[in-house]
Amino acid sequence: MSPKAVWILAEQREGKVADVSYELITRGRELADQRGTELCAVILGDNLSDAELQTLIDRGCDRVLHASAPELRHFLPEPYDKCLQALIVKEQPEILIAAATSTGRTVMPCVAGPLRAGLTADCTGLQIEADTGNLLQTRPAAGGNIMATIKTPERRPQMATVRPHSTRPAPSISGRTGRIDRWQPPADLLKSRVRRVDYTPAVETQAIQDADVVVAVGRGFKKGDNVELARKLANVLDGAVGASREAVDRGWLPYPAQVGLSGKTVSPKLYIAVGVSGTVQHLAGMQTSETIIAINSDSEAPIFNYAEIGLCGDLFTLLPMLTAKIAAA
Ligand code: FAD
Repeated sequence: MSPKAVWILAEQREGKVADVSYELITRGRELADQRGTELCAVILGDNLSDAELQTLIDRGCDRVLHASAPELRHFLPEPYDKCLQALIVKEQPEILIAAATSTGRTVMPCVAGPLRAGLTADCTGLQIEADTGNLLQTRPAAGGNIMATIKTPERRPQMATVRPHSTRPAPSISGRTGRIDRWQPPADLLKSRVRRVDYTPAVETQAIQDADVVVAVGRGFKKGDNVELARKLANVLDGAVGASREAVDRGWLPYPAQVGLSGKTVSPKLYIAVGVSGTVQHLAGMQTSETIIAINSDSEAPIFNYAEIGLCGDLFTLLPMLTAKIAAA
């Protein structure tokens, strides 16, 4: 038992340690060195291999504490919350930091609440206050206009989530040694009212807010297989594929691709709305695009009122033509 330890909440996917864990080690190692204490990585999953857990030690942890059960294979808020709380109560770490990923953002408040611990979200800087040993947690505040430094001196553990990519991953150092402890949680901690049904990685659509060109898919595509036509056009333009809510609700594209009032706001150089009618809710997410091209078979479609260039016709004819012309140019 290490009462003053610094803990990081490492993450895993499909039994492999997620890269963001190595960024947390960079943070945690600095804090542990400043405090002169042990750095421990807590990782929840289903029987991870020693070799995988050793990577956490190679990157700078002194100890790995692996809560292992089939129910912890994938992230589920209830068992993760309960197991983490039980470990904290048992071992009393001084500091616990997690990544501000969907896992960290979900589980850390659930843990901090019942423990009545302070939690600072989305930190970009962490350090130890020299005279008190308290954790100083720095994060943007007031709309990004100031950097606020926060501390929660009365309660333990001091908890923070850290913005991913705000530091470099710790490098691997061969020959580092440490301790790996495995813990099998009791059944009552593993109950969950939520069941994992499916997982779809949001790879292709993550970039819609950063892309110079967005090709938006609307209900006019008729079915998911046809989205390939938009992908081909986006590829030749080095752009990303967005979607109307109708297209997302039909499962043709994942929610992160949705543009509009209840989706993302984008402002690319070129927005190509294809088979999108141009409702106010969609316009709310793309109206500020530099140039809008609309492709629609209905000459009365409202989107034409907002487009610099309008192509009235069948998208199944126009898109392949356009893609071929641009590819050949
Ligand atoms: P439709 O309105 O059905 O338009 C399909 C278009 O495709 C039509 O204009 C049609 O002429 C054209 N078309 C059909 N066949 C072809 C063809 N072969 N070739 C070319 N064109 C063709 N919507 C969003 O998009 N984003 C949001 O964030 C959003 N948030 C909402 C929030 C709230 C609170 C509410 C109430 C609604 C929201 N909506 C949002 C939904 C919105 O009201 C519309 O239902 C949606 O935008 C319509 O999507 P669409 O243009 O793809 O479909």
